[in-house]
Amino acid sequence: MPDAALEDLYREILLDHYRNPRHHGHLDAANHKADGANPLCGDQITIEATVNADGRIEDIAFSGAGCSISQASSSMMTVYVAGHTTAEALRAVETFQQMMLTGEAPSTAEQDLGDIEALAGVAKFPVRVKCASLAWKTLQQALQSQTAAAVTTDERSE
Ligand code: ZN
Repeated sequence: MPDAALEDLYREILLDHYRNPRHHGHLDAANHKADGANPLCGDQITIEATVNADGRIEDIAFSGAGCSISQASSSMMTVYVAGHTTAEALRAVETFQQMMLTGEAPSTAEQDLGDIEALAGVAKFPVRVKCASLAWKTLQQALQSQTAAAVTTDERSE
């Protein structure tokens, strides 16, 4: 595919996720949660996830507001990690961050990020890299925290 056509396709994928965000909202039974912010651009995001006993992400949702890149990236991230294990999701975070460094889509099928590779071109714009990475950094934080458990403890102590 010529570069221009590929760029058009990528732009369409991003716009579609921005206009029709997937997994947008809140979860009733989230056991992982984190807030993220990118003050440079004003992007804010909250990620909630329900992880089952086997470490699989049963459900995930994001909320917040921000530029089209941050929102599209959040939407694509949730689609990708839903149904995967937390280990797989954390590997995808690494793959994504690598893609933001190199501007190249992952080279092995194992690391295939699908539509998310539409964001590879963002690597050329360092300011936008923070927008695109916000969802992934916040996901990483959410999976490494267990706020629902902490909230329960607080309620009991009051
Ligand atoms: Zn932004």
